Amino acid sequence: MRKERIGVIGAGLCGTLLGIRLSQLGYRVDIWERRSDMRQSDVDAGRSINLALSSRGLSALDMIGLHSQILDDIIPMYGRRIHDVDGNTTLYKYSGREDEYINSVSRSGLNIELLNYADDIDGLNIHFSTQVDRVDLDNTSLYVRDGEDVFKHQYDIIFGADGAGSAVRRSIQKRSNQLRFDFSQKYLDTGYKELEIPAGEGGTWRIDRNALHIWPRDGHMMIALPNTDGSFTLTLFIRFEGEYSLEHIKDDEAVQAFFEQYYPDALAHMPTLIRDWHDNPTSSLGMIKCHPWLVNHTLLIGDAAHAIVPFYGQGMNCALEDCVVLDRLIAQHDHDWSTILPQYQSIRKPHTDAIADLAIDNFYEMRDATADPLFNKKRKLELRLETEYPDYYSKYGLVTFRPDLDYHQAMTLGRRQDDLLMDLAASIDDPKAANLSAIYDQVMALGRQ
Ligand code: FAD
Repeated sequence: MRKERIGVIGAGLCGTLLGIRLSQLGYRVDIWERRSDMRQSDVDAGRSINLALSSRGLSALDMIGLHSQILDDIIPMYGRRIHDVDGNTTLYKYSGREDEYINSVSRSGLNIELLNYADDIDGLNIHFSTQVDRVDLDNTSLYVRDGEDVFKHQYDIIFGADGAGSAVRRSIQKRSNQLRFDFSQKYLDTGYKELEIPAGEGGTWRIDRNALHIWPRDGHMMIALPNTDGSFTLTLFIRFEGEYSLEHIKDDEAVQAFFEQYYPDALAHMPTLIRDWHDNPTSSLGMIKCHPWLVNHTLLIGDAAHAIVPFYGQGMNCALEDCVVLDRLIAQHDHDWSTILPQYQSIRKPHTDAIADLAIDNFYEMRDATADPLFNKKRKLELRLETEYPDYYSKYGLVTFRPDLDYHQAMTLGRRQDDLLMDLAASIDDPKAANLSAIYDQVMALGRQ
């Protein structure tokens, strides 16, 4: 065992994976989790039930040796299936390459896989139902609440993996002035509500199960991801106020009328709409950026450091990739934490800022552009490029399927490519007839600039 004792706050996706990895490297790790053990009770109500897992997250699962064990629990989604208001659908593949797709995974299912895996790891202890109240940043100790009592635990290093509402970040914020702590939290005017398409007869899927479904509408949209039991989790993204907003959808008749007008093909598969509408909360969507993440020996990681909106399907992937970046630095600097922690902060910050900005861009792309003919012409060009040129990656492909590139590189190159391809798409009539090799040369020249 290594001499440093490590405390991790939060046994969510990031904290559990981090605890596992650090224990595999020989550290004694305690994870402190506010919720009870989700294997014994349903504690995840109200959180999005499934998530898109892609290469960066899979690389992190590979790192701890868990990838192959979750393959039965994930459903490949090969593209976006766009539903128009008349119920016609078109599949736009994520990539022209067969082996590039994203996966739908149950949030609690993946968390449970991680917790089960953690049970067999030496040196790792997970304490459920223990809320961390605060961290003493000068002494690297944390205070956990047990009923009326508060207990102190001392560590060499503390990781705050306690999500967007992080108590560790609050401890840093209390000393904002002294630490020159920059903090921004931005909410979208749009919130979300989860709904459901239940399984069909015999656990079959009522709509194409191997796609991420999108119903883009003017000012609102709905998406659906498949679950292994045959159901789909639908998420309606809609403004809180103004035209086409929640304030106009108050009673059962209004809910029914709204879905009949905008989502009739989905409605045909939603027998529990009215009940789900009332039972499920409407949640807000926000983005948190802050700096520094590191104070003495306490580091924020995952959503606690960089919560993003869900429109690139990258929040969890990014949080898990945080652990891969840290792991690389541990190897590179031979467990010298005085170098690893500051390096991690300076290396990782520009990349989490990049994915935060990309996720906002993708909100508008999914909501508005996927129904736009010019955007779809550009997408057809991209698909031809991906099919015929193995070394070409769209912006989406760079972010989603290239964990060898960091987010900032993916964003910079991807945005340049997008601008060029939109210009080219505007100047051609038929993407199928366009001179692909000339387009390929122009696009690849961008990567060399
Ligand atoms: P969390 O998952 O929030 O875990 C934090 C843990 O800390 C929790 O277990 C919590 O109980 C615990 N905790 C909190 N405070 C304390 C405390 N004081 N003491 C002890 N424990 C505490 N990402 C994707 O990659 N793909 C997607 O498709 C995707 N879809 C999303 C859809 C929606 C609607 C939303 C909201 C998010 C989505 N995300 C997606 C983002 C993803 O959910 C998060 O990025 C991810 O959960 C972050 O993991 P985390 O472990 O850092 O934080």
